[in-house]
Amino acid sequence: MHSTVFIGLGSNLADPIHQIKTALRTLHDIEQTQLVKSSSLYRSPPMGPPDQPAYINAVAQLETTLTPLSLLMALQVIEINQGRVRQGERWGPRTLDLDILLFDDLVLDTPALQIPHPGLHERSFVLYPLSDVAPPDLPIPGHGRLAKLREQCPATGLEKLAE
Ligand code: ADP
Ligand code: MG
Repeated sequence: MHSTVFIGLGSNLADPIHQIKTALRTLHDIEQTQLVKSSSLYRSPPMGPPDQPAYINAVAQLETTLTPLSLLMALQVIEINQGRVRQGERWGPRTLDLDILLFDDLVLDTPALQIPHPGLHERSFVLYPLSDVAPPDLPIPGHGRLAKLREQCPATGLEKLAE
């Protein structure tokens, strides 16, 4: 049995558009995993420390037979291979951030892994690209359906990039 998973991608360093495009190709190379769809790319103002470049964000839909933790480890390998250095500052600049947004209808709350990803339901740079690849009635466990959440979330500052 495979699971349907949505991944949030973000980058604001070292040619972010290139980082996101490379990461999308690399997701397909994860074992037991296929890239099904990817969203448009979006530019968004930084969350957290404001003295950093704008982010490029996207969402990818995967199918996988990996467990959530095995997938998280595979994503962290990709982050590191693309030059991510983990620093102390939360929400600081990064070459690549890969977050598991949703994993089927799973709800998980452990220190290493929280699903749905915290904040997903109120972040425009997640909800708008997610709507490119997922149906409006997609349930976000604990928060209702995707279309409703997106309607409640202003897209201020979010810019969809031309293909
Ligand atoms: P953030 O994405 O919040 O900016 P990081 O990418 O540095 O922060 O991730 C910090 C930790 O968040 C990771 O080491 C990972 O164990 C944890 N984490 C918890 N839930 C998730 C999730 N759904 N997807 C990715 N990482 C997660
Ligand atoms: Mg992350």
